[in-house]
Amino acid sequence: MAEKRKITVAHGDGIGPEIMDATLRILEAAGARLEFEEIEIGQKVYEAGHSSGITGSSWESLRRNRIFLKAPVTTPLGGGYKSLNVTIRKGLRLFSNVRPCRSFYPYVPTHFPHIDMVIIRENEEDLYAGIEHQQTDEVTQALKLISRPGCEAICRYALEYARAYGRKKVTCLTKSNIMKISDGLFQRVFEEVAADPRYAELETEHRIIDIGAALVAARPEDLDVVVTLNLYGDIVSDIAALVSGSVGLAGSANIGFDAAMFEAVHGSAPDIAGKDIANPSGLLSAAVMMLVHLGQSDIAEQIRNAWLRTLEDGMHTVDIYKEQVSKQRLGTRAFAAAVIERLGEKPRYLRTAAFGHRDIEVKLPSVPRREKKLAGVDVFLDWDESERDPAVLGKKTGALAGDAFELKMISNRGVAVYPSGMEGVYCTDHWRCRFTARAGAEIANRDIIALLERFEAAGLDFIKTEHLYTFDGARGYSLGQGE
Ligand code: NAD
Repeated sequence: MAEKRKITVAHGDGIGPEIMDATLRILEAAGARLEFEEIEIGQKVYEAGHSSGITGSSWESLRRNRIFLKAPVTTPLGGGYKSLNVTIRKGLRLFSNVRPCRSFYPYVPTHFPHIDMVIIRENEEDLYAGIEHQQTDEVTQALKLISRPGCEAICRYALEYARAYGRKKVTCLTKSNIMKISDGLFQRVFEEVAADPRYAELETEHRIIDIGAALVAARPEDLDVVVTLNLYGDIVSDIAALVSGSVGLAGSANIGFDAAMFEAVHGSAPDIAGKDIANPSGLLSAAVMMLVHLGQSDIAEQIRNAWLRTLEDGMHTVDIYKEQVSKQRLGTRAFAAAVIERLGEKPRYLRTAAFGHRDIEVKLPSVPRREKKLAGVDVFLDWDESERDPAVLGKKTGALAGDAFELKMISNRGVAVYPSGMEGVYCTDHWRCRFTARAGAEIANRDIIALLERFEAAGLDFIKTEHLYTFDGARGYSLGQGE
């Protein structure tokens, strides 16, 4: 008998303990080669003063075992609490969120009986870095950070996943037509990685996120594996769950280089907690993904097939119970017992689960650093004078350029307003003055400092600067809105 793999489990809050008990009972009955180490996370831990909902000793368990089966937790209302999921993702470097979306028609209603897609979402970067500022009375900003190693990891993971699980097509979704540098990097890395002969068998494509999201909603059966950035993935995975009708049945995996966390897609459902009516299927799906990840595909298939058979036999919890289709309305415990009873059986109508398994290893190549050269600076101002006339600001700031720089243009919310610009553009109090190196001038940070000192002396309120660089001669900054 193969050695048991120790994993960390948490029963969570709300319906968490009920669905976790049901899931562990099924895992044990199926002979999963697992040993469980219990930790407490969530509401009680938050309320005991741990702002992330987890204690140091629980972290030790996670760092030791590196595999975490997690029930949903309740985030207490009120400020000051950090998201436990974000903390765990960052702490274990779980860069990839994997959400399979399937339809189980006619047992679960949907307009699309044949959905079988997997959404792979970048998990650590993008607008979720939470770096936000308000620097003028009128304007706020959020920083979208996209790194090459971040793109490499997720794109490689998606292509490796598609290969390992015998998928046919990988669709990359970005908004690279507008965000040419950040989303453009994601698309470029995807295309570079996809060109590896290792993935020759896979069809790969890139689509703009707006049409991609429309496809997820309108033609989900055409999609196979989807890989995308954090925010778009957040949105399209919810659309996918909705159109498949199985949001309550879905599990998700958060995968890192050497750690992983598995959980249901839904929350702690405090409205039905303690009533023995919650559906444990979402957490069970997550546990099945975990078994496949751990190389226990035999047990995973057995559980999945028994679960499919339970669904087909009309043994349904109240959330999916329907007069015409269901035969018996079961509580959480009885549903788990029904699955256990069917271990060893296969579905008659739904596709039998057969999980291939090959280790998915993501190795990041070392990319040579390019030559970075300073080409100019964008100075952002809070300016609310002279009826916000761009010509007045242009004259004022142009006179401050000095020998090193020339004022190239001024824009307001990305729209050029000086020296030329569209008539009638509404200007906020937030301005960008772009200074580039004068022809022949070699500039350095001290020239920027001197420029800012001239701004200070002129009484102009600079609120931030962004330096303009070239990398091996290629421009590393955008020219204007949408280009
Ligand atoms: P929810 O998913 O908990 O509940 C939404 C609705 O779906 C409720 O009516 C609920 O009864 C029902 N539902 C959810 N899971 C079900 C199941 N397994 N069986 C039957 N019905 C089910 O979402 P919510 O109400 O917005 O959030 C409740 C709490 O969960 C909040 O504190 C939220 O922060 C937390 N939450 C946690 C996670 C997580 O731990 N990963 C994820 C989402 C929400």
